Amino acid sequence: MRFSGLRVLKEGLTGNTGWTPHWRDPEPKSDYDVIIIGGGGHGLSTAYYLARNHGITNVAVLEKGYVGGGNVGRNTTIVRANYFLPGNSEFYSHSLKLWEGLEHDLNYNVMHSQRGLINLFHSDGQRDAFARRGNAMINQGDDAVLLDREGVRKHLPYLDFDNTRFPVYGGLLHPRGGTARHDAVAWGYARGADTRGVDLIQNCEVTGIDIENGTVKGVQTTRGTIRAKKVAMVVAGRSGQVAAMAGMRLPIESHILQAFVTEGIKPVINHVVSFGMGHFYISQSDKGGLVFGGDLDFYASYAQRGNLPMMEHVMEAGMTLMPMIGKAKVLRSWGGVMDMSPDGSPVIDKTDIGGLFLNCGWNYGGFKAVPASGWATAHLIATGTPHDTAAGFRLDRFRTGRGLMDEEGTGSQHNLH
Ligand SMILES: Cc1cc2nc3c(=O)[nH]c(=O)nc-3n(C[C@H](O)[C@H](O)[C@H](O)COP(=O)(O)OP(=O)(O)OC[C@H]3O[C@@H](n4cnc5c(N)ncnc54)[C@H](O)[C@@H]3O)c2cc1C
Repeated sequence: MRFSGLRVLKEGLTGNTGWTPHWRDPEPKSDYDVIIIGGGGHGLSTAYYLARNHGITNVAVLEKGYVGGGNVGRNTTIVRANYFLPGNSEFYSHSLKLWEGLEHDLNYNVMHSQRGLINLFHSDGQRDAFARRGNAMINQGDDAVLLDREGVRKHLPYLDFDNTRFPVYGGLLHPRGGTARHDAVAWGYARGADTRGVDLIQNCEVTGIDIENGTVKGVQTTRGTIRAKKVAMVVAGRSGQVAAMAGMRLPIESHILQAFVTEGIKPVINHVVSFGMGHFYISQSDKGGLVFGGDLDFYASYAQRGNLPMMEHVMEAGMTLMPMIGKAKVLRSWGGVMDMSPDGSPVIDKTDIGGLFLNCGWNYGGFKAVPASGWATAHLIATGTPHDTAAGFRLDRFRTGRGLMDEEGTGSQHNLH
C-alpha cells in the first residue's frame, strides 16, 4: 500500500477501513541467506538496504522483543552532521543526505524536521574549537554558521546569557541539523524491508551462534535453530552479550542514558539547543513536550532505566541555562542501554569468524547514523568490502591503536565520550 495525501483523505471519508498492517508476521524459515540479529534502527536499515541496494531479500531480522522497542524508540531524535574528525565526518555527512531523501524513499512520514541545531560556547578557547569544527563541517560539504552572543540572542532570546559560571559567548549553528520521529523511522524501515521480502521475526531471542570450522552456520533462538550463510550482530547495548555467544570479547561497555519529556506547551523552543558545558540539550516535540537529556549515568548496566542523581543534574543544568523551563511539569523519564566504545566512534566490520559481521559502538549518537549505517553494513555484507564512508570503523583499531577516532578528545574512557 502506498501512502499519500489522497489516500489519507479517502480513508478518512470511508471510515479508515482500508489500512493494512505495516508488515507481515511470518514464521521463521529454517534457512536464510542473511540473518540480522536485532530489530533496532540499524538492523532494520541494514535489511532494507540489503534488499533495495543489493537485491538480497532472503533475509530475516530476529528481534527478541518488538520492532522499535530498543534505543531506536527511546532516543531524543536529534539528527545532525557536525562531526570533526575524518572518518566520522564523511559518514555522518552521508547519513544526513540520506535523511533528506528518506521520506520519499520509504514512502513514509518520519517527520524529519531541519529546524537547526545550536551548540553553545562559553569561553574564548571554546569559540576557537567551535570555529575549527565549523570549518571542518563546511569543508565536508555540510553547513555551519558561527554566531556571536547577539546572534544567539536573536535565535534563543529565552536563555540566561549572564550566568556567572557559564556566560553565553556564542554558538555554532548547524542549520540542516534537527530532529525526526524515532518510532516512525523504525516503522518506515521495517515496512520497506518487509515489502521487499525480508522476514521480520519478533519475540525471537538469539541464544547462541553456531560456528563450524571458523565459519558461521546459523543461530539458536527461542523459536528454534535457524541456519544462514551470513549473520550480522546489530544489537547496540547488548553487543557484548551477543558477541560472547561467538566467543568474542568486545571493547564495548554498556551504560545508561536517560531522557525526559514535559507536558505539552505552546511552541517556545524552535531549535535543538546543546549546552555542552552543563551536559544538557533540549528540543521541543511536535506535540509540544520539551524533550531533554544530559549525560550517561556513568556506571555500567543493562537496565533500561536510570537513576536519580543524573536526573537532578540534568534538571539543574536546564534551569541554569533557561530558567523558564522550571514552570513545565515533567511527564516521563526513561533510559536506554548505550554501547560505548573506547574512542566514542562505531564499528562496522567483519569478524575473524567467516560470515559473521559486527555493527556496534554507537554510543549516544546512533539514531542519526541509522540510514548510513544500514547502507554501509549492507554493502559490507553483500560485497565483502567496507563502504567508503565507513572504511575507518574497523574493530582492530582498538587492538593496534591505529585509526582511533576520539571525536571528543577524552581518551580511552568509555563513559566519558
Ligand atoms: C535517552 C537516549 C537519547 C538518545 N538520543 C539520541 C539522539 O538525540 N540522536 C542520536 O543520534 N542518537 C541518540 N541516542 C542513541 C541511539 O538511540 C542509539 O545509538 C541507536 O538507537 C542504537 O542503535 P539501534 O537503533 O539499532 O538500537 P536498538 O533499537 O537498541 O536495537 C537493538 C535491538 O537488538 C535487540 N536484541 C538485543 N539482543 C538480542 C538478542 N539476543 N536476540 C535478538 N534481538 C536482540 C534489542 O531488543 C533491540 O531491539 C539516544 C539514546 C538514548 C537511550
